[in-house]
Amino acid sequence: MRDYFIQGSYLAASVLFILGLRGLTRPDKARRGMQLAAAGMLFAIVGTLVSHQIVDYRWIAAGLVLGVVIGYPMGMWVPMTAMPQRIALSLTFSALAAALVGIAEYNTRLTNGEGIPAAIMAAIGIEVLLGMITVGGTLIAAGKLQEVITSRPLTYRGQNLVNALVFVAMLVLFGFLVSHPERPALFYALIALAFGFGILLVLPIGGADMPVVVALLNSYSGLASCATGFAIGNVILIISGSLDGSSGFILSVLMSKAMNRSFTNVLFGAFGSQTSIGAKSAEGLSVRSTGVEDAAVQLAYAQLVIIIPGYGMAVAQAQHQVRELAELIEGRGGEVKFAVHPVAGRMPGHMNVLLAEANVPYDKLFDMDEINGDFDRADVALVIGANDVVNPAARNDKTSPIYGMPILNADHAKSVIVLKRSMAAGFAGIENELFYNPKTSMLFGDAKKSLTGLVSEVKNV
Ligand code: NDP
Repeated sequence: MRDYFIQGSYLAASVLFILGLRGLTRPDKARRGMQLAAAGMLFAIVGTLVSHQIVDYRWIAAGLVLGVVIGYPMGMWVPMTAMPQRIALSLTFSALAAALVGIAEYNTRLTNGEGIPAAIMAAIGIEVLLGMITVGGTLIAAGKLQEVITSRPLTYRGQNLVNALVFVAMLVLFGFLVSHPERPALFYALIALAFGFGILLVLPIGGADMPVVVALLNSYSGLASCATGFAIGNVILIISGSLDGSSGFILSVLMSKAMNRSFTNVLFGAFGSQTSIGAKSAEGLSVRSTGVEDAAVQLAYAQLVIIIPGYGMAVAQAQHQVRELAELIEGRGGEVKFAVHPVAGRMPGHMNVLLAEANVPYDKLFDMDEINGDFDRADVALVIGANDVVNPAARNDKTSPIYGMPILNADHAKSVIVLKRSMAAGFAGIENELFYNPKTSMLFGDAKKSLTGLVSEVKNV
């Protein structure tokens, strides 16, 4: 009976995980998707808690309290702009959990003297190997994203050789342990090497590429959970680990594609290094700045306004003011569309989440491919805290580090208004010739403040 209950819970959890992932493919269904996945997790936990393998609930209760004490503040108070590093840290915990289960399983089998068959040792080995690589890698990724450690690629001579040697050493240890499992010293050496390898792997990658790296490490941690499932004979871990592993991998591929970078380029290139500043210098070019009143008049009389949100909108938390401005323009008979670049902001779907939170209707959000043809007939392209995703250098400057990245054609609009605080570069650290284009006006200041001003001025026009 108990077994039926457990398997039933796991089945329900698996279905809910899949439906949850499906929900995440559309911004208007994403919230529901998260709720379904959370319900799935509840089923998985309940199913696991009634397992006869549990001999003592005290540690579980302690873990529950500790998890809530750490997790609740992380979920509630970490700002949206710090989400990538928060996700990296959450991954550290989940990968550590997978590795610890592997260590516990190894020790239990060793002390019980029941022997460790080669297949189980292989599963435990993969679990701790991938788990500890993820722990090391995500800690460095979180540090770089938070700029606790430099976001510059840290490179030194012979780096690839050192990494290759550590990698080979791990493989040799792994292979040896599969045929001779009862060598705890070697098992712990494998764990230490994997942790070190994770650190070494991420150190030479620039901060701008960290979200791709985190997505890739997410897939390692998913595979580690999957291996855990095989090692301890747990179906839900196999299913959820596979879902986690494959979705993380697909996400990192899609992100690389949106940045027009190959995987090898992300892992071994140096994009995002502060040293790659300025393929083109802005010397001799002039900038036209504008005031809130003039910009408001331009927007009020425009027939088509395309709004391009970027990382700066997230920093300023200006999404509600953006929606208000769009409604005002529409109230005056203008048309407003939102152009969402796949890597605008600092994580996939960053802009969609913020705009959905501000109740911008989903049918007003357009992907790059859908909207790029509309810029030619747009009266105003309103760029709100975006920079790299509208940088024409990606199109026409072969020396630029972002050359080849598909961009939004803001420069094709009849006029461009850019809301940002200064002439500072975006995440790629390079100049943007759009800001020097004669049809561009810069409205300097915090995006939320400027938008609040625009809203009240448009009302008066
Ligand atoms: P950028 O990082 O290019 O530029 C953001 C701009 O926002 C800055 O130039 C900054 O200028 C401005 N800004 C910051 N704070 C404010 C504020 N309070 N008010 C107004 N403006 C502000 O952002 P994009 O969204 O255009 O591009 C995203 C970048 O991140 C790309 O390079 C992309 O490749 C990278 N990336 C994104 C990933 C993703 O998944 N989304 C993943 C990996 C990388 P100023 O300081 O002058 O105000």
